[in-house]
Amino acid sequence: MKKVVIIGSGIVGSTIAFELSQNPKLDITLIDQNNPGSGATGAALGLLMGIISQKTKGRAWQLKEASLKRYHTLIEELESLTKIKIPHNKDGIVKLLFEGDNVDKWHKLAETRANQGYTLEVWDKTQLKKRCPEVNLSKVIGAVYSPSDLQISPPILTQALVKGASLRGVNCQFGVKVDNFNVLPSGEDDDKFCTSVEVGGASILADFVIISAGLGSMALTESLGNELKIIPVLGQALLVKSDSWQKEKDFNPVITGNDIHIAPMGNNEFWLGATVEFPNVQEFSMADEQLLDDLHRSAIAFCPILKTAPIMLSWSGKRPRPEGQPAPVIQKLQGYSNIILATGHYRNGILLAPATAMQVEQLIIDDGEFPI
Ligand SMILES: Cc1cc2nc3c(=O)[nH]c(=O)nc-3n(C[C@H](O)[C@H](O)[C@H](O)COP(=O)(O)OP(=O)(O)OC[C@H]3O[C@@H](n4cnc5c(N)ncnc54)[C@H](O)[C@@H]3O)c2cc1C
Repeated sequence: MKKVVIIGSGIVGSTIAFELSQNPKLDITLIDQNNPGSGATGAALGLLMGIISQKTKGRAWQLKEASLKRYHTLIEELESLTKIKIPHNKDGIVKLLFEGDNVDKWHKLAETRANQGYTLEVWDKTQLKKRCPEVNLSKVIGAVYSPSDLQISPPILTQALVKGASLRGVNCQFGVKVDNFNVLPSGEDDDKFCTSVEVGGASILADFVIISAGLGSMALTESLGNELKIIPVLGQALLVKSDSWQKEKDFNPVITGNDIHIAPMGNNEFWLGATVEFPNVQEFSMADEQLLDDLHRSAIAFCPILKTAPIMLSWSGKRPRPEGQPAPVIQKLQGYSNIILATGHYRNGILLAPATAMQVEQLIIDDGEFPI
């Protein structure tokens, strides 16, 4: 059996562990220094904005499309295997359009999506009022509705992925930090080979090492003599409760506008998010209260009923954003034959986790020794 060690059990590492665990010839260990899903994943809103994104070709679209396709089978598969109910919203995503927005661009995208086999509807104000009665029409000119995009609870999804992986034989080690690697030096024509990872004084043997440690990936690659720059981009979000939210019968989609999302979570609760806060010149990021206030006010401007909705909770997380290369980074670590980077997913880690797992599996297959 080939030994695969996955470092980091956020959405990315957990999805890789679950997807690879379908191969009985792999002996997989999943490691996290904390609890699974407690990094950026634990703060995410879980919007899977694929069809409604303006990307229609190239790598970004291919990753989004592959992920969304997999999500439509993955949720059911995980629920049936683990008996964990994964909260997700199948009513789609409504994107508000404002004065100055180019409506033709959205009609064109709807046409392209139709050719690709997906539905995207462009609504006028009357349709929007009928479908989403809480939206303040004075601020908008219409909306774009994507019925196939989803929203999912990232922490519970991660929990289900880890349980599913564990049921399929993945060895999970949580609360332990990978602090070093043992490496065979390279030959004249060969890359270096990592033989094991060090966890609290113990060694775990490896044929392949996957670094999916989010912001922690930078320190790990540094210890391997490689430079991978990932910066933390902070995001804050709120949970509010509105007992008087009006909705069309059996229709309660995510509403988004100007990058502010309102996600109904059941029990009259809504997630509002998220701010995008870059670190300062000292590379230090601290939550800015004013930005959270602005976010709250903008959400109220879209849906005035939220004004009377008490804030139950606020939280923040740091998105791992790669510098000098596009997100996400899915490739072999330069100079190493058996270390694979699956990191730097920035604002789309929940959406792109399944496609990332597919690409990681392909990199292992391409190695030629994969026991399929
Ligand atoms: C407020 C907010 C809202 C967001 N909304 C969305 C959204 O709607 N849709 C979307 O797709 N994305 C969203 N994102 C982005 C998404 O959360 C991230 O892209 C994604 O969670 C990254 O996942 P990850 O597994 O790479 O990293 P993480 O979740 O950070 O996981 C990395 C893990 O590695 C572990 N680790 C690090 N170093 C080590 C080590 N040396 N040894 C052992 N373990 C280690 C950490 O403990 C951590 O658990 C949002 C992010 C934020 C902050």
